[in-house]
Amino acid sequence: LRELTRVAREIGDGKLESRARLGDGPGEIGDLARSIDEMAERIQRQLSTQKELLATVSHELRTPLTSLRGYAETLLDGGLEDEARREGFVRVIRDQAERLQALVDDLLSLAELERPEAALRRERFDLRELIARQVGLFAAAAERGGLKLVLEGEGPVEANADRARLEQVIANLLDNAIKYSEPGAPVALTARAADGWLTIEVRDRGVGIPSRDLDRIFERFYRVDRARSRSTGGTGLGLAIVRNVAHAHDGDVTVESREGEGSTFRLRVPMLASVAPLFREDG
Ligand code: ADP
Repeated sequence: LRELTRVAREIGDGKLESRARLGDGPGEIGDLARSIDEMAERIQRQLSTQKELLATVSHELRTPLTSLRGYAETLLDGGLEDEARREGFVRVIRDQAERLQALVDDLLSLAELERPEAALRRERFDLRELIARQVGLFAAAAERGGLKLVLEGEGPVEANADRARLEQVIANLLDNAIKYSEPGAPVALTARAADGWLTIEVRDRGVGIPSRDLDRIFERFYRVDRARSRSTGGTGLGLAIVRNVAHAHDGDVTVESREGEGSTFRLRVPMLASVAPLFREDG
């Protein structure tokens, strides 16, 4: 017990490498010793993940900031008199500011979802209609990329979920499908409710994802092709948000993909059985 008290004090003082080292001591004291050691290890791991995240975030913020500063200085150093080019410089400044904004918005979304007390605002709505609305919003972007968006199936799909967050998920998946596709390729969306699950599927015939990266693309800031992601304004956080939203609903998100052939993202959240139907047979 004296040894355990020492370790607990040291951990409290921030010496996270402290361990009880009571080996495989028997009985309840042994269990307590092992629990304390495991706790210290978990705290250590969490802190190092946080440090890593802070380093990555700082790095991600630095790129647009350096660029903002560079263009502002060029303008001040005579660029303002250069009538032919100054508008271009100002546009770059605006684009970089937009990038920063997107990054900060995504970070805030993630932080919000990761709060232990984060509550879902569940409401009942028609999932297909929500998807149709997103398809409408992305139609112009798809057209610019020469892509065809198709919403498959018909009729309402009743959901009881956090509408705003599912909207964000659909937007992120659709945005990716468009970004990582070549002109002329179709992007198909489906929504269905069956066997107690609500499923949203987004299918593209785009560049696909190498199998070695498949496990990692849902991690924060993980990108297969850094240059492509940046040039299309990606923050590297979209899929991390998708995964967090799925988990917050006790659901999951999976991906099937082949390089050069395309990707299918599938989000599943459990339907809540105890809720009276929103849509009735008789309308
Ligand atoms: P980003 O902002 O870079 O798109 P995401 O978190 O949304 O960040 O996605 C992470 C990475 O996963 C992307 O950088 C890209 O390499 C890959 N990815 C995501 N969606 C697709 C897709 N539909 N097709 C091919 N690659 C994709």
